[in-house]
Amino acid sequence: MPGVAANYAVMKQAVETGFSDDMTSRSGMINNSAKKVHNSKKTVLSPEFQLLIARALSAKEVNSCMGRVVAAPTAGASGIMPGVLYTLQEQHQLTNEKMHEAMLIAAGIALIIEHKSSLAGAVGGCQAETGSAAAMAAGAIVYCLDGTPEEIFNAVAITIQCMLGLVCDPVAGLVEVPCVVRNASAVAIANSSAQIAIAGVDSVIPVDECVEAMGEVGESMESRYKETALGGLAATTTGQKIAKKILIHDIDILPDQEPTSD
Ligand code: SF4
Repeated sequence: MPGVAANYAVMKQAVETGFSDDMTSRSGMINNSAKKVHNSKKTVLSPEFQLLIARALSAKEVNSCMGRVVAAPTAGASGIMPGVLYTLQEQHQLTNEKMHEAMLIAAGIALIIEHKSSLAGAVGGCQAETGSAAAMAAGAIVYCLDGTPEEIFNAVAITIQCMLGLVCDPVAGLVEVPCVVRNASAVAIANSSAQIAIAGVDSVIPVDECVEAMGEVGESMESRYKETALGGLAATTTGQKIAKKILIHDIDILPDQEPTSD
């Protein structure tokens, strides 16, 4: 599986890059949050959980700072699979081969979601991006821990139930806020859903119906909640101020142009 192996290597590299390089985005909205979480002396979570969250932030910040990532399934959600898989492999001493198989399981989950719903924020809101990535990751976790196919699909279904309805509202139209922190919350939901499913808890609503519900919710969302930056956080007073500032800055740095005569 050379393609899968290469993608997994890029994912792990993105996690490392986010910790080693300066992760300040051009807008300034993203400013090394992975390092801050990783190095925080004040802890809310277990050390393993803290590292998981930091890794998801790390890989996603690489995307927001125009670095190299694997879109899984999208660039906006590119911290979720790396954060989850990297941490899972380390905690359970899993082989690379096992991780590559888990990537294929995750890809299969994404194909099902794409077929019955959507993977794009512009079509289905953020539930379709970070929600799908979390569902992929939850299924991959259960697979790696020798869960049954039924448990894998329960993990996917439970994840979708938790992410349903999330709107896409990037401030200033940049894939930074709230995208980066949503990658962190999505890995938490992926792990909790995997834990619930592998313990034998049933999703009650079957996975196919959960995916269809995601599609139905996405279809009924107003366009201002689908990557247009016209609703939600993007439409807040602060969000609008930031958008205006970035627009003025971008105009200022445009190269001088010769005036044209009409
Ligand atoms: S808010 Fe929109 S752009 Fe950001 S991660 Fe979610 S779907 Fe992608």
